[in-house]
Amino acid sequence: MYYAYRYRLHPTESQRETLDSHRDTCRQLYNHALNKFEQIPQSAGTLNQRVRQVRGQLPDLKDWWDDLNDLYSTVAQAAVMRIEDSIKALSQLKQNGYNVGSLNWKAPSEFRSLTYVQSGFEFDKKNGQTVLSLSKLADIPISHHRKIPDDVTVKEVSIKKERTGEWYASFAVEGKEEPVKPENPDRCVGIDVGILKYAHDTDGRAVGSLDLQDERKRLKREQRSLSRKQHGSNNWEKQRLRVAECHQRVRRKRHDFLHKLSNYYATEYDVVAVEELNVKSMLESAGNSQNTALAAWDTFRTMLEYKCKREGTHFVEVEPAGTTKQCASCGVASDKPLWVREHSCPACGFEMDRDANAALNILSRGFEKLELGQFEGTTPVETALPMFTSSGASDVVDTKRVVETGSPTLKKGAQAAE
Ligand SMILES: [Zn+2]
Repeated sequence: MYYAYRYRLHPTESQRETLDSHRDTCRQLYNHALNKFEQIPQSAGTLNQRVRQVRGQLPDLKDWWDDLNDLYSTVAQAAVMRIEDSIKALSQLKQNGYNVGSLNWKAPSEFRSLTYVQSGFEFDKKNGQTVLSLSKLADIPISHHRKIPDDVTVKEVSIKKERTGEWYASFAVEGKEEPVKPENPDRCVGIDVGILKYAHDTDGRAVGSLDLQDERKRLKREQRSLSRKQHGSNNWEKQRLRVAECHQRVRRKRHDFLHKLSNYYATEYDVVAVEELNVKSMLESAGNSQNTALAAWDTFRTMLEYKCKREGTHFVEVEPAGTTKQCASCGVASDKPLWVREHSCPACGFEMDRDANAALNILSRGFEKLELGQFEGTTPVETALPMFTSSGASDVVDTKRVVETGSPTLKKGAQAAE
């Protein structure tokens, strides 16, 4: 079983430059190696053998290509071996019926990482700060919020630049056991799946529903066109396929979004608390859109659970009854109709956005269930209030950005939207 431990890197300005230059050397090397690879006939051996053959040319390359000597040896080797992964991915796509051509050269925006295999990396302390020491590169400050257990082997470390410009280090470890969940979790989140918004969490994020407007428009257009064609004719059959493609595009986009969202929570937090999916309310609520939303929530929950397991993050589901009514500050329940968006406690005066209050209740119930003790965030009202009170203060995450830019962009996306 493989697991990944992912940490945020905080490179200095000059370290960023070095990282970028190493990354680009890897990219150029990859492109060069791809060219060499394509000159080797398939009859020369298996895919792996042929890629290895190209890798064997590395020492000769270093004779005239100075930049290659800046790279740690396994980093250069891994850049070449990536051809193998790319080709496997490509043939997987082909098997799934995609019309894909051959491998292309990678542009700078497409080559975002470099990989240290087995050696050349270690954790260190510099001036009280934990750093990731990378051979021939730099000692980069790292948020080392989770310990990698001693009994696992780190296979490789990928240093990746996200599209936001943030750098991350991902440790691929091999071990029979799941990663250890932190005993004293530091970063905790409760997620409430609101009615008006897709989700609302205790860090003030409201994740809007996915923007599928363009896809829906196109689907309608294609469906209209289908209805005009003679049923069963060749043209009708062609058009039917187009409609099916539209449906698939919507499904894929939604799935992709949920993957990124769940990945974000599983990698950024030590504890993730959600409500149990309420099947009863699902049955009571009529209407297709509601069912779709609940199905999406169920998918999200499933993804979240296995990703948390993989990342060593506590995942807990709590009893959903009363999370909206209950006051996150004093615990007193008060009825509020659906259209009241603010929680205002008659007993203690605590005020908060309705969904944010629910999210806090979910998180503290999660804490209780995990037997982690009392969640601190529920009591200090002062610290919680400024994040949520005024209805405009919470971050509304632009889901389009999440989809386009990848997983760790929720915070960034929200800032940019302000
Ligand atoms: Zn109260």
